[in-house]
Amino acid sequence: MAKNNDQRDIEKDLGERIAPMAEALEVLKAFADGFATTFKHLFRKPITEQYPEYKRPLPERTRARIILTRDPDGGERCVACYLCSAVCPVSCISMQSGEREDGRRYAAWFRINFGRCIYCGLCEEACPTSAIQLTPDFEMCKREILSLVYEKKDLLVDHGGKDKEYNFYQYAGVVTDVGDKGAHIQEEKPVNIKSNLP
Ligand code: SF4
Ligand code: SF4
Repeated sequence: MAKNNDQRDIEKDLGERIAPMAEALEVLKAFADGFATTFKHLFRKPITEQYPEYKRPLPERTRARIILTRDPDGGERCVACYLCSAVCPVSCISMQSGEREDGRRYAAWFRINFGRCIYCGLCEEACPTSAIQLTPDFEMCKREILSLVYEKKDLLVDHGGKDKEYNFYQYAGVVTDVGDKGAHIQEEKPVNIKSNLP
């Protein structure tokens, strides 16, 4: 049965009265939830960590102090490819590449300005050799801003960090001058592009 105009007016009027009440109830519920949480915590034992006497263990993936790691053979992982420095959004990594007698590249010097670093982790993501890694060590605050410029000797460690087993040159060739493409571990033979021709 079709509603007449009076019925429609009554429903509209009712709707307009109920809407603010519903909103007020929602606000009251939010307040009640908030106070309930506060009240609950009043009776809980407080958790106070006595830093620096107690240092809470942080997850391995925490992004703080940066290190340059070594492969399982003890060699420097960094091949001075400049990828970390290219990807760094604040340009705080600089280096100079060098080449050993066997043709392998290395970083003659490597510098990170921690005064600029925003610990975004992009350098670690970009590194093909797993050399550069961020660690959970965040206690490196200094008063003297220039002492936040770390040289290679300050960055290089004697372990593999998070990626202990990875050895870039096991895959890419221990000596860069020998071994054809596809001759190394887990490497596939290169595709003969002419074989794809019709
Ligand atoms: S963590 Fe980010 S800002 Fe810091 S050196 Fe790496 S890429 Fe640059
Ligand atoms: S730390 Fe990694 S990304 Fe940066 S230059 Fe060395 S190998 Fe390349």
